[in-house]
Amino acid sequence: MKDFKTILFGNLVATCITLALTAMACNAEVQTPPTIPVPGITREPQPIPLPRYTIEELMGKIVPASDSSFVPVPKNMITKDQIFLRREAYSAFQKMDSAAKAEGVILRIVSGTRTFGEQKGIWEAKWNGDKLVEGKNLKSEIPDPPGRAKKILQYSSMPGTSRHHWGTDIDLNNLNNSWFESGQGKILYDWLRDNAIRFGFCQVYSAKDRSRPEGYEEEKWHWSYLPLANQMLVEYKLMVTDEEISGFQGSETAVQLKIVKNYVSGINPACGDEQKSDEQEKNHK
Ligand SMILES: [Zn+2]
Repeated sequence: MKDFKTILFGNLVATCITLALTAMACNAEVQTPPTIPVPGITREPQPIPLPRYTIEELMGKIVPASDSSFVPVPKNMITKDQIFLRREAYSAFQKMDSAAKAEGVILRIVSGTRTFGEQKGIWEAKWNGDKLVEGKNLKSEIPDPPGRAKKILQYSSMPGTSRHHWGTDIDLNNLNNSWFESGQGKILYDWLRDNAIRFGFCQVYSAKDRSRPEGYEEEKWHWSYLPLANQMLVEYKLMVTDEEISGFQGSETAVQLKIVKNYVSGINPACGDEQKSDEQEKNHK
C-alpha cells in the first residue's frame, strides 16, 4: 500500500506540473509580470482631464444670450431687465429660492452673469472718475495708478477677473453690507448663512481676517455656486496669468497687484470645496 500511495502521489505531482507548464506555455504571450501595488504610487500615468472651460469663458468673453450653457432668469426673480446664469447654477438657485420662500425669505437677484465688456464699463467709469467711489472722483483724488486700482478693487473686479464672468455667481437683494445687518436683511442673511451651502452656494467674499488677508472687502450679497465655480477657479489659476489681464484702462497695475493670487484666489477658505465648507459651516454655527 505504501508503495502504491507513493506512486499515486508522484503521478499526481507530475500531472499537476505538466498541466501547470502547459497552461504557462499557452498563456505565455498574454501574461504580464505580476505587480505589487505600492500605496501612493500609481502604476500608469493618469490621464489629465481636459479643461472644461475656455480661457474666453473664464475671462468673460462670452455672449450669454446666444450660448446654450446659459439661461435667462425669470423676471420675478430679478431686479433688472435681464439676467443670465449658467443652467446648473440657475437650477440650484430655483431650489434655494423655493426653500427660502417657504420660510418667508424672498430672494432677488440684483446681478448675475457679466461679460468682459460690461465689467470694463463698470471699471473704467470708476477709473476715469465718471462714477464716484464713496463720493470721490478717483481720477483726481488718487492719480497714482496702483493706489487708484486698489481703491476700486475694494468692491469691483478688473475686467477678465470677475467671478460674475463665469455665470455661477449672484448678487442678492442689496449691495450694502449694512442692509444685511438688521431687520429683513438680517433675516435673509442669516437664512443664507445657514442654508445656502445645502444648495451649493457660498459667500466667497467673507470678512477679511487672518484666513482671508487679501482680496475684495466683505460682500454679504455675493454668493457663488461652488459645484461649477470651484472647477472654474482651478482652471483659471492654471490658464490665466497677471500679464494676460489687459484691454482696459489701468490694466498695467495687474502684475504689481498680483491680481490672480490676491483677488481671484483671495476667497473665503470655507468655500474652497463643498465638503469642507459644509463642515466648517456646521462648526461655525
Ligand atoms: Zn457680486
